[in-house]
Amino acid sequence: MNAPKHSPSIKGYLLDMDGVLYHGMHALKDAPAFIQRIQDTPTRFITNNPIHPPKVITERLSLMGFTGIQHTQIITSAMATCLWLQQQKPNFQYFAIGAQGLHDELNHAGTFNAEQADFVVVGEGPGLDYEQLSIGIELILNKGAKLVGTNPDLTVDSMKDGKHQILPGGGALIAPFIAATQVQATIIGKPEPLLYEMALQDLGLKPEECLMIGDRPDTDIQGAAVLGMQTALVRTGRFSPGTPYPAGFHKPNWDVSSLTELSASLSL
Ligand SMILES: [Mg+2]
Repeated sequence: MNAPKHSPSIKGYLLDMDGVLYHGMHALKDAPAFIQRIQDTPTRFITNNPIHPPKVITERLSLMGFTGIQHTQIITSAMATCLWLQQQKPNFQYFAIGAQGLHDELNHAGTFNAEQADFVVVGEGPGLDYEQLSIGIELILNKGAKLVGTNPDLTVDSMKDGKHQILPGGGALIAPFIAATQVQATIIGKPEPLLYEMALQDLGLKPEECLMIGDRPDTDIQGAAVLGMQTALVRTGRFSPGTPYPAGFHKPNWDVSSLTELSASLSL
């Protein structure tokens, strides 16, 4: 069933980034202009990608031609994971596998401990090898550590030498831990609510006052719709124009081929 159209009384925007604003290091051609158009409306950028810290992301955005995006507007799954761990146990001890962005974030609030960790955290990005997997399994099976993943995506899109490339996502990297231990993992990123809730709290807005713009029905749109946000699918990423909308997921209020089409629909 198609969701009803809302009047564009939008007080805030939440945007996914990869596949909405850029592919690899290349801005989608209408994305910088769209960001300019919404610059006077409070906006947060929420990403399942835990690899880069917000300051690195704003530098990359700036290199791609985006202006006016502050690092304080960006919320990553590494930040959400850190917040969740603090909520479970202040001064938590952790063993993390993943990129530097995840390690830096967790190190702000917790203590790395490969012998007695409360949590084994598996993040998207480089870092997983046989030894890390062995340590994580030992902590889960024999030390009572809980298994936590930054994001559920099984694969992510990337660009290498101008060509599209599929890389393993956080969901694929945590899978060997689940297989070996048979425990359930807690997964933090979209469509789980925490990233959206952090953004809404930051904006001081209610879900229905905000529009979430994303390129994935199963994560971006589904998680936002469950919380009662308005949603827009832009078919510029994983999900291309003409692809039938997947069954079993909330349909977006706007389903468009580009940000240009979205801004026309919203009369921006
Ligand atoms: Mg995306």
